[in-house]
Amino acid sequence: MNWPAANGLVLDWLAVNGPALSRPVIARVGGHSLRTDLEPIKRTRVYEEVAARIRRQIADGVLRPGDYLPSERDLAERLGVSRTSVRDAIRTLELLGIVEPRPGEGTIVKEVSPENLVAPLATILTLHKDRLAELWEVRKIIEPPVARRAAERATPEDMAALEEILVRHERQVRSGTLAGEEDAAFHYTLAGAARNQVMLKVIDVLIDLLSEGRERYLQGADRAHKSLEGHRRIVDALRTRDADAAERAMRQHLEEIEDVLFHSPDHVAPPAGD
Ligand SMILES: [Zn+2]
Repeated sequence: MNWPAANGLVLDWLAVNGPALSRPVIARVGGHSLRTDLEPIKRTRVYEEVAARIRRQIADGVLRPGDYLPSERDLAERLGVSRTSVRDAIRTLELLGIVEPRPGEGTIVKEVSPENLVAPLATILTLHKDRLAELWEVRKIIEPPVARRAAERATPEDMAALEEILVRHERQVRSGTLAGEEDAAFHYTLAGAARNQVMLKVIDVLIDLLSEGRERYLQGADRAHKSLEGHRRIVDALRTRDADAAERAMRQHLEEIEDVLFHSPDHVAPPAGD
């Protein structure tokens, strides 16, 4: 989630929460009880998945600043992983400034302080709902120019991938299925078409945390349709290599979603939080 991409923090964050791990988190639906998230794990990089689950619990407010994590043994048992994996996961979270082991007491979830602004933006976003509007602003600054570059640089393969995502997206909207993953895939693929690896990583993190596709925000046919329409306008502009139109279409798309997220009368708490 952010933007000072060059400072390495984003990359640190990615190393821990890269696409392979964060995609399933996006897809997860409702039911944020400890029980739900603490199901047995079957992945290879086990400690990373354990760290991601704990982070998720914090993001969802199940674990709050000042809370103690369950004991190592408890976590290992409930997650069906070794205590070594749990220890490595906690160590990772400690390095990210998210938790703090207290000898003899346990591991506490840290309060995010101003100096933690140097910590990965992902962490801050998940802990501070009020940063969401600012991060959304970052997205509006970054993505329209990315769409412009995509219009200039997209290959036939990029176009085919985008068209395919549109088809899937449309099918889901029509069937009333939530299309959060298609939305993330669209923005990610578009960023890839801009041919800038650093930008791609930045956007990947951004869309993970700020995806308008988060289920509860796209409920309602109007919203889902609006999002799809926005994507269509962007692809139309890319097809004719109209960089101005692509930039404009992306800006409009993000503004429309932002309206729903922050200004609509029925808006709920921002996505990172509840
Ligand atoms: Zn979108």
